[in-house]
Amino acid sequence: MTKAIIELGYLIAAVLFVVGLKQLSSVETARRGNLLGAVGMLIAIVITLVQTGILQFSLILLGLVVGSAVGLVMALKTPMTGMPQMVALLNGFGGAASTLVATSEYVTKGTSLELATLITVALSVLVGAVTFTGSVIAFAKLQEWMPGRPILFKFQNFSNLFLFLLILAVGVYFLVHPDISIALHTITVGSLLLGVMLVLPIGGADMPVVISLLNSYSGIAAALTGFVLSNHGLIITGALVGSSGIILSQLMCKAMNRSLANVLFGGFGQVAVDKSPGKPAAARPVRECSVEDAVLLLENAQLVIVVPGYGMAVSQAQRTVAELAEILEKKGVTVKYAIHPVAGRMPGHMNILLAEANVPYDQLYEMDTINPEFESADVALVVGANDVTNPAAREDSKSPIYGMPILDTDKAKTVIVCKRSMNPGFAGIDNELYYRSNTCMLFGDAKASLNKVVAALK
Ligand code: NDP
Repeated sequence: MTKAIIELGYLIAAVLFVVGLKQLSSVETARRGNLLGAVGMLIAIVITLVQTGILQFSLILLGLVVGSAVGLVMALKTPMTGMPQMVALLNGFGGAASTLVATSEYVTKGTSLELATLITVALSVLVGAVTFTGSVIAFAKLQEWMPGRPILFKFQNFSNLFLFLLILAVGVYFLVHPDISIALHTITVGSLLLGVMLVLPIGGADMPVVISLLNSYSGIAAALTGFVLSNHGLIITGALVGSSGIILSQLMCKAMNRSLANVLFGGFGQVAVDKSPGKPAAARPVRECSVEDAVLLLENAQLVIVVPGYGMAVSQAQRTVAELAEILEKKGVTVKYAIHPVAGRMPGHMNILLAEANVPYDQLYEMDTINPEFESADVALVVGANDVTNPAAREDSKSPIYGMPILDTDKAKTVIVCKRSMNPGFAGIDNELYYRSNTCMLFGDAKASLNKVVAALK
């Protein structure tokens, strides 16, 4: 295959990635965007396989079969609520792949590599190895294989900085003495350790931001490996992943009113909270309501705003919510959905669930658009959302989430909260909304409770 055709193939793939990414930013076009990205990746893979005789096709086929089988089992077995940890693990694999490819390039070509390539080999190993172990720790925290709280010790940030500087020093030594392979392997071991050390002090609540950041790192590692291999396709893809990951991390931080530095080094979420089921987080009285009360409130409303959150994903209540909305609309009630940018456990989590339940896109409203409407809403129906509705973020300057933009749910005439207990959400703090006089708590699994409401309405 001529060089021109190869480069043209990579260019077409890159254009498909860029257009795909653009389309992913809107709910209506996201599916098409995903497909375009997949087609681009297929073109890039085919071109890479055909252009270089890196390996025998039998070995490639073996890798393809094993990888596809593992991927298929993972995809089928992972529930929607487990998506963040699956993404974390996949990022980790990307980082590990970059480390291995860069190392193999050094092992096969050794000292014949130019200085610029040696620099990218060292950087690729550093970023790839940090991404790998950092992602494994993020996975273990989210999977609850290890405590989700920040694991902190004295002089942590200082010792991490020291480790990083040590790796850089070994890196310089490696560039001066590229024949001493142990130097590169020391960088690998040090970077693997650094990945663990960097993610240990970050609490489970901040893991989605960390995962997005690690995603960005895996892109940077891939781009660096692209330089090592002089592969333009890999450089472009890596750069796109690297930049979109960092943009997403920034957007999430903005939605939580936190800085990236605070997420990475702030040890947020140190307070351990008792999350045993059914145990009230505080002994303040709350108003409970029955299914019948909820039905009465909903069918007499003119405007109902549904506020979905992580609990809707846990109980898989999205289809019941959509059915309820349909029934209410047939009765002349206007139903709108309020989408907080960090509701759930990953960006766009609620959009995906509601799209799965065929909720029309034009009923979904972003936070800034819907907030002024809460004052005129008769009912705000909170389905498994907690932190994103906590008025303390607006009113209590001592609250750890103070300043985080929230949905102004409390301003509705009546607020019905569907959740199982008084347990806190991801941030681990009590929600002021539950104690307000216009709030009533419909305790129970969201899907079970709403199914009863739907049955009664029918
Ligand atoms: P929260 O984590 O604040 O609350 C979820 C609530 O769902 C819990 O209080 C829980 O209460 C309830 N719940 C769990 N299971 C069920 C069930 N089966 N039926 C009914 N309710 C249930 O979720 P939010 O979506 O409000 O907020 C997201 C949080 O995640 C924020 O703190 C945000 O900062 C954080 N975050 C999100 C990111 C994202 O990208 N989306 C990124 C980073 C952080 P109970 O146990 O009583 O049922």
